[in-house]
Amino acid sequence: MVCLECKKELDYLNHKNAMDTIGVELCEKHYSRMQKLIELNNTPLEAVQLYYGLKEAGVSAMLEWWDGKKSIDVAISRVKLNIEIETENGLMTHEQAMNDLEGDMHSFKNGFTTIRIPHILIRYYLNETVNNIIGIMEGLKANIKVI
Ligand SMILES: [Zn+2]
Repeated sequence: MVCLECKKELDYLNHKNAMDTIGVELCEKHYSRMQKLIELNNTPLEAVQLYYGLKEAGVSAMLEWWDGKKSIDVAISRVKLNIEIETENGLMTHEQAMNDLEGDMHSFKNGFTTIRIPHILIRYYLNETVNNIIGIMEGLKANIKVI
């Protein structure tokens, strides 16, 4: 068991603490950094899990990336892909949905594609989710070449 950020060996307690609260393997230093980021941005835990899932698959993403208007849960700047985690399925009001749609429109105008992923997919099917995102990245890369 090593820290996903710095590869430091984790002892049992650090490992258990990080897994029980955030769900990723982090050393004490990176755990407390991550806790601060989560508190500051109200980051869904699944965003953190996806970020590290992508990292393990060799994809460098950014967590809580500020696009000038809003903070994106996970962004992959190389292919201009924004990933938002949906945490409240079925509870969305039409105002929230319209805000999201307008946000997506602004992103599209700036050349960014937004995809929304329900948090349960990341929690239970992280590998498949990461593989699909890699497929989307390949599609975006191919389209960028055509233009
Ligand atoms: Zn670390």
